[in-house]
Amino acid sequence: MTTTPIASWNSAGALAPKFKPFIRQTIANSRQWEWIPPDLQEAVQVVSHVLPFRTNEYVMDHLIDWSNIPDDPIYRLTFPHRDMLAPDDYAQLRELVLGRANQQALTELVRRIRMRMNPHPAGQMTHNVPRVNDAPLKGLQHKYKETVLFFPSAGQTCHAYCTFCFRWPQFVGMDDMKFDAKESHELASYLRMHPEVTDVLITGGDPLIMNTRSLEAYIEPLLAPDLAHIQNIRIGTKSVAYWPQRFVTDRDADDLLRLFERVVDSGKNMAIMGHYNHAVELRPDIAQQAVKRIVGTGATLRMQGPLIRHINEDPRSWAELWQTGVRLGAIPYYMFVERDTGPREYFQLPLARAHEIFQQAYQMVSGLSRTVRGPSMSAFPGKVVIDGIANIGGEKVFALQFLQARNADWVRKPFYARFDPKATWMDELKPAFGKDKFFFEEEGGSRSEYGAEPPGQRKVIPLISARQDEALRGGGTGGSAAAAGCGARTPA
Ligand code: SF4
Repeated sequence: MTTTPIASWNSAGALAPKFKPFIRQTIANSRQWEWIPPDLQEAVQVVSHVLPFRTNEYVMDHLIDWSNIPDDPIYRLTFPHRDMLAPDDYAQLRELVLGRANQQALTELVRRIRMRMNPHPAGQMTHNVPRVNDAPLKGLQHKYKETVLFFPSAGQTCHAYCTFCFRWPQFVGMDDMKFDAKESHELASYLRMHPEVTDVLITGGDPLIMNTRSLEAYIEPLLAPDLAHIQNIRIGTKSVAYWPQRFVTDRDADDLLRLFERVVDSGKNMAIMGHYNHAVELRPDIAQQAVKRIVGTGATLRMQGPLIRHINEDPRSWAELWQTGVRLGAIPYYMFVERDTGPREYFQLPLARAHEIFQQAYQMVSGLSRTVRGPSMSAFPGKVVIDGIANIGGEKVFALQFLQARNADWVRKPFYARFDPKATWMDELKPAFGKDKFFFEEEGGSRSEYGAEPPGQRKVIPLISARQDEALRGGGTGGSAAAAGCGARTPA
């Protein structure tokens, strides 16, 4: 496996660009700030007290069309807008921010608004965190049997923040609600106890905000012989769009690609889960070089992202994104439904419209792009895809199925919900054909994050002792540890 040579525009003698972020306190220093009308500037200053705001020079110079703000999709994606808050909330907040009121009143209002925005959808805080001796294992999530999510502490920021992000509490200092793990030791120990786990998703934030040496410290232990059951190491990242230089011209870009090659050479799959929101993100030459360099290592690059009103509701954008990606060697993977968190009312689309957009985009592309699945909801019981809208026995219904589920037996079983043109999320759907419950609710599952797995009935995972851990590292019996049960979670 060989690494694609360094980017031509870099080897031609140009200096590698340096990453330069902008946040609320520094955005006025950007050369574009004066192009933003005062009312939009005010919205950035006010709303960014509630929702995290961070963009960078590359996004501003190459992805945003400044002649089209505020409607430009990448402007909407990275710059807070007043309509992302309820009008009353915006008015109160504006008064406190512009009036420079006392800090405590501002902090309290910000906290109240954030708590109304469902900071942790789909039971993340209560149901997916593994526990040892009834204490949560910080930095890990395990919802679906075969996949563990790992949140390295150094990877909990991003090159820019998306205004719709469902991980937003991590960026705004709600520390009591933050997932992170300081060391990879806990991860490796947990995985030794769980031979049923085949996939580790390293996620954030964006793990590729870390330098390669830090990332290596997390990944190398996963290549150990006693973790042979780990077949796929995934990294969820938006850097492919927000900072593709990470793979091309950053000082340790080549080291990063060599790390990917080592994973591939070890016999495991190195899977980059690239987060793209709009076709424009894959138009710059540097973004295309990044894709080629990633797949040149033998790693796979899958493309996924949510469908978001104001940003990517044009099916042509999705079709272009998938077609360009396929031409470069990437694999279209998921179109998600925007999650039930943050400024959801601003970004959400009815499920019926989401299905229509997916279908139209799907019809525009060849079979090679039709690896994509969607629109898919990462809901509490699992990942539910809308397969279609049908008329069955005189009733208009949504045809649904689980692509992933808390209970593996539910996967790929078709089920039906009454058609509702306004429904935007799973918990607004009602079973079709006069039934009271969906099949999985009859089997103990729940549509919403409330109602299943009462805390008292949660399984407690026994803490592995240091001696057991040593035995497992040395290829010892490991039987008792391996027998421990768990919940599970998959990439969002
Ligand atoms: S890059 Fe991903 S984690 Fe970061 S803000 Fe955007 S959606 Fe959230």
